[in-house]
Amino acid sequence: MDPDFLALLACPQCKGELTEVTEPEFGLVCPACRLRFPVKEQIPVLLLEEASPHF
Ligand SMILES: [Zn+2]
Repeated sequence: MDPDFLALLACPQCKGELTEVTEPEFGLVCPACRLRFPVKEQIPVLLLEEASPHF
């Protein structure tokens, strides 16, 4: 994902920076909240309802 685009994105819960991860599946992780947000068809889904726990 484009780093400039990634820099514009923020965690919907803490407004912190998100990190791209590829394992176990591609997504964006908030290290502070330990949440992973899915990316569907290149579009990050930054909704708490869609987030999964990330450890
Ligand atoms: Zn967060």
